[in-house]
Amino acid sequence: MKIEELIKIAKAKNPKIDEKLINKGYDFAKKAHKGQKRASGEDYINHPMEAAKILANFGMDSTTLTAAILHDVPEDTKHTLKDIEKEFGKEIAFLVKGITKLGKIKLRGEREEYYLENLRKMFLAMAADIRTVLIKLADRYHNMQTLYAKPKEKQFRIAKETMEVFAPIANRLGIGDIKGDLEDMAFKYMYPKKYRQIEKITKSKYQERTELIERIIKKIKKDLKKEKIKIIDIHGRAKHLYRLYLKLKKHNMNIDEIYDLVAIRIVVPEIRNCYETLGVIHKYYKPLINRIKDYISLPKPNGYKSIHTTIFGPEKGQLLEVQIRTPQMHREAEFGIAAHWIYSGKNKFIRLLFNKDYSKSNKEKLKTIRKELIWVKQLRNWQKESLEDSTDFFKSLRIDFFNDRIFAFTPRGDVIDLPEGATPIDFAYSIHTEVGHSTIGAKVEGKPVPLDYNIQNGQVIEIITQKGKLTPDQKWLDFVKTSMAKVKIKQALKKQKKIKL
Ligand code: MN
Repeated sequence: MKIEELIKIAKAKNPKIDEKLINKGYDFAKKAHKGQKRASGEDYINHPMEAAKILANFGMDSTTLTAAILHDVPEDTKHTLKDIEKEFGKEIAFLVKGITKLGKIKLRGEREEYYLENLRKMFLAMAADIRTVLIKLADRYHNMQTLYAKPKEKQFRIAKETMEVFAPIANRLGIGDIKGDLEDMAFKYMYPKKYRQIEKITKSKYQERTELIERIIKKIKKDLKKEKIKIIDIHGRAKHLYRLYLKLKKHNMNIDEIYDLVAIRIVVPEIRNCYETLGVIHKYYKPLINRIKDYISLPKPNGYKSIHTTIFGPEKGQLLEVQIRTPQMHREAEFGIAAHWIYSGKNKFIRLLFNKDYSKSNKEKLKTIRKELIWVKQLRNWQKESLEDSTDFFKSLRIDFFNDRIFAFTPRGDVIDLPEGATPIDFAYSIHTEVGHSTIGAKVEGKPVPLDYNIQNGQVIEIITQKGKLTPDQKWLDFVKTSMAKVKIKQALKKQKKIKL
């Protein structure tokens, strides 16, 4: 890819881009990688450029793009991090260093160990600077695109790591498209037979569905026009293959039971238009019961917002899914945390993530972002507190990481992100360790509940504490769900034993 092309993309997304800096990065990296080839036979420089292109499409700034262009220099060439710092300054050198560190992850003897170590490093990098992880994701994305050139054994290992480490992280950061693509690319190498089977099943169905959707879109456009609702965009979106495969497995491989093979996505100007659109859709098409999901008032823990509904289509009543959102929701669903990073401004974002005191004027705006990023913040706090017990911590964190998540609220309206099945004790420890230790009771929506109660999504939880109670109950360990609560309880009990002895 040519540098001019990269700058064009970057400029289209972000007019204030520093062209000179990006050009300088390109010249430096090109010289450093001179003569080096990728396994695919192309010039090495093409790889960091492709990674930078992915980030340019996110609208990332010049610093991040330049760091992406330089990301393999210290590892693979005679030029050092010191050289980069001299030429490009501390910030870019810091980002490149972070990526180099992530790249040094060595394959250990035991797979589990290796896996946990990977996760741990990703989390640490995420806590230091989210941009490092975004560059690493872009790096992996292009490596997956060119995985065909690698030997077979390597293909499997890299694909598996992508599926187990990188796709979940992309998901956690709310970058839906990257997550879906990474999973699909990994799926292809991990289970080639199944991949081809799914491709075959879906091929004719996709065609049929896409044509149907095109006809329905025309009709919905008319319906919404009649009701005077402005549409910014309406399009069909095909489900990613790996997600489809997981769903098919649940439905005995019967593709006729998959309603969102191709879904209709409607983008309307404002939130109230989303609800109006839902109303219009339901006026003209009968909805399927229990399939209306309002992720606007109750966003998914990774911040995803939209309204989903499944309706009986106009022809033969085929079921199909409709997704309704605003442009901002759409942008955030595509770019996730990167969107926040860009639109809230770097400094605010970093302040927000790492400090408790941020300026009052931005409080409202930051509050919204904070709610969505609460998971990243909690993670950082857990890490700080749990370093001594890190093996246990990361082992259980893995379980948290893959479980479905729910949101619960404090009486003040703060959001706590928890795994499904979490209890008031988990909730209490998520607020603060001392709150956890001193818990003696809990109320849900004002009514007392037992401490092993299963919190439901969206509930308001009030924790009742006893001042001066500093030790948890041993039997809490039987029912708590979060790694954080487990580690905290164990630590406190251990400490207490020592004191008694
Ligand atoms: Mn690379």
